[in-house]
Amino acid sequence: MHISDLRQRLRALGALPVHEDRVLRRWAMAQPQEGGRKQLQHFLPLALRTALPAITDELAGLARLHSQHAGEDGSARLLVALHDGQQVESVLLPPDRPKRRPSRAMSGGGLCVSTQVGCAVGCVFCMTGQGGLVRQLGSAEIVAQVVLARALRPVNKVVFMGMGEPAHNLDAVMEAVQLLGTGGGIGHKNLVFSTVGDPRVFARLHALGPGEVKPALALSLHTTVATRRLTLLPRAPRFDPEALVAAGEAYARATGYPIQYQWTLIEGVNDGDDEIEGIVRLLTGKYALMNLIPYNAVEGLAFQRPSWERAAQIARTLHRRGVLTKLRHSAGQDVDAGCGQLRARAEAPSRRIDIAVAQG
Ligand code: SF4
Repeated sequence: MHISDLRQRLRALGALPVHEDRVLRRWAMAQPQEGGRKQLQHFLPLALRTALPAITDELAGLARLHSQHAGEDGSARLLVALHDGQQVESVLLPPDRPKRRPSRAMSGGGLCVSTQVGCAVGCVFCMTGQGGLVRQLGSAEIVAQVVLARALRPVNKVVFMGMGEPAHNLDAVMEAVQLLGTGGGIGHKNLVFSTVGDPRVFARLHALGPGEVKPALALSLHTTVATRRLTLLPRAPRFDPEALVAAGEAYARATGYPIQYQWTLIEGVNDGDDEIEGIVRLLTGKYALMNLIPYNAVEGLAFQRPSWERAAQIARTLHRRGVLTKLRHSAGQDVDAGCGQLRARAEAPSRRIDIAVAQG
């Protein structure tokens, strides 16, 4: 189900825009439809009121909690059952540790959501990529993961880094972004659209109008060597690392949000000195943050994580040479659950080192 379908159904039941917005807002905020200052019988048209319990049940059925796996770092991996029996993962990320006294606005944590069942990009190190694409998620199914998570814990940040490539389900993801950034109450820079890099994404984001929600952007770089990128991300769009960074920089300057570059650190593949030089060359002076995420080994795949010492050394070197870098554990990596992509890319603030400089 898409949010636009839902809006049409509400309209067919006599809803005006103000009614539509209320129903969608209370759903996205995981609040019951009954409640608030306005009583439903004084506000919603009768036909809509009558149909609302069935619609509410249907929305609840879009994403149900199959199981929950708590990580030692405060994260929780959620296995989510969809209405047709398919499953995706969402990850409740550990709350950021406040630098100063926590304020009410800072309460809550992040959620990593899936945008597809499976994925067609086929990154060679990712478990999700091995099975190909099964199906797209509807925009309502994407928001439903947030609603489900909000029943467990407050959520004030949503990263689209779970199963799937958001660029391959662009309309649905952007529809979810618009609702989450309005009725869903998530700050726009706390909506993080993650992609391997696709020209259609940049075109779409730059075309967003003044009244629309502009998300922050995370780009999966993984290597600065074009031929290596082709091997690691075999079905990603042909986007040279230089061109990808240039496109990212243009968006960062247009929005005022730094680009988060994701780098799954794999032993003997992209943890060499050549890559350090490449990162310095590409990112010095850019409005960017480099997230190094040591790979979590996936059963059946031959890739390994470098030692923590090597990862820390790379982060320190980048820091010293002027690239804002964070070394992160993937969230809940002690949890032995299915999605290699989530493990590799979901970020956790624990054991963070080297936070530094750069930006011209
Ligand atoms: S890492 Fe992301 S883009 Fe690559 S195959 Fe896995 S889910 Fe798809």
